[in-house]
Amino acid sequence: MATRDSGAKVVIVGAGFAGLWAARRLGRKGFSVRLMDRNNYHTFLPLIYQAATAVIEPEQIAYPLRAVFKKHPRVSFTLAEVREADFAARVVRTARGREYSYDYLVLAPGSETTFFGVPGAAEHAFRLKSLEQAIGFRNHALACFERAAAEEDQGAARRLLTFVVVGGGPTGVEFAGALAELALGPLAGDFPGLNTSQVRVVLLEAAQRVLPTFPPGLSDYTLGRLSRMGVEVWLNSAVARVGADSVELVGGESLPTESVVWTAGVTGARAPGFSDARVSRGAGGRLLAGPTLQLPGHPEVFVAGDACKPGEADPPMNAPAAIAQGRLAAENISRLAAGKEPREYVYRDKGQLATIGRSAAVAVMWGRTFKGLTAWAVWLLVHLVHIIGFRNRLLVLVNWMWNYFFHERGIRIIFPSDPHGPEPGRLPEKGHQ
Ligand SMILES: Cc1cc2nc3c(=O)[nH]c(=O)nc-3n(C[C@H](O)[C@H](O)[C@H](O)COP(=O)(O)OP(=O)(O)OC[C@H]3O[C@@H](n4cnc5c(N)ncnc54)[C@H](O)[C@@H]3O)c2cc1C
Repeated sequence: MATRDSGAKVVIVGAGFAGLWAARRLGRKGFSVRLMDRNNYHTFLPLIYQAATAVIEPEQIAYPLRAVFKKHPRVSFTLAEVREADFAARVVRTARGREYSYDYLVLAPGSETTFFGVPGAAEHAFRLKSLEQAIGFRNHALACFERAAAEEDQGAARRLLTFVVVGGGPTGVEFAGALAELALGPLAGDFPGLNTSQVRVVLLEAAQRVLPTFPPGLSDYTLGRLSRMGVEVWLNSAVARVGADSVELVGGESLPTESVVWTAGVTGARAPGFSDARVSRGAGGRLLAGPTLQLPGHPEVFVAGDACKPGEADPPMNAPAAIAQGRLAAENISRLAAGKEPREYVYRDKGQLATIGRSAAVAVMWGRTFKGLTAWAVWLLVHLVHIIGFRNRLLVLVNWMWNYFFHERGIRIIFPSDPHGPEPGRLPEKGHQ
């Protein structure tokens, strides 16, 4: 195997939190790094729900990868969909049939939405995992209001103005809060002729409380805040089926809606070219790596981030864990190249945060719980410092301040416009996104 000084070739699949941090570290250590992603930008996923609810512009949470590595001459970027990792030949193959060889491989493809086999969900529910999906939902929500304004049938208008969020975890809570602030605030104001008492934001949670991983007191606080913001929180409400114009619950109840957003679960991304027969998949559909993040039987292949289940550890699928694993994969490659033993991954809990709405959040950090304005300030700070690029940080801050002081959302545009024409009646496609 090549040594560190020979500039061993490392291919990294995925430029999310794990891949990006691994590439930065390896580039500084003298490796020849090829970072590959299907997008030419890094997406700051924790704020994607804000792009979907017109708080910020989608571009503000994306950063061009070539700009990130402008000052890293040893890191090159390749825009490609990776289809296969051939361990025997030590190459990865792209959808366009190109091959790239490696001495070490880091697989960091992230995660995918999982629907737990609920019929109709994959076809009819919106997901929140990419910028396209965020823009798709924003356009859809705005188009629903336009259609409702032109609708004479009150039942149809009510269906168009009912938005259902599935999953009361942090993403569902954050999204439902932001959606209520948009739909019951500036958007309702845009349609003075519309009966805005028909606007509903419903949050469905199968468990007995929202934010089940937080202490019960913070769940109660969140429930109270959401209710005051106009969100209807339905607990003990598992989804049985999602249709084009309704969502059905396990108890038989049905809610007429064309807007179901699924935030209820993620599973490790299907790693390129791996069949389940070749790689065992552990909890959360993640690839089972060893405690050093190496794939069993392939010491030169590392897995990091949401796609990785490292040994006995069971870290949450979140950004701090992905960053820590990306860094460790880089360090272990460096250690292997220097003839040293790789280190084991140790999960360090950095706490939990969820924002509910303007001035309200909950946090568990440094062994303490926080709620309200203090937690919200911590949430703002933590997210702001992690956004890549000074310009993006500044623009996000400006949008937040604007939203905070003026209760205003500037990005209420349907763009790109519907190729079938301006007539309301056709909605952006769901499902496949
Ligand atoms: C809506 C939402 C809100 C969230 N909020 C928070 C939060 O508040 N705090 C928090 O800590 N975490 C949050 N998370 C979780 C966090 O975003 C993830 O844990 C983190 O992004 C995982 O990093 P990763 O590098 O493993 O994967 P990702 O960041 O998902 O990156 C994976 C990358 O791989 C690329 N890729 C995948 N497959 C291929 C392929 N075959 N070929 C080429 N490229 C490929 C993708 O394009 C992507 O760029 C949230 C996630 C979502 C979806």
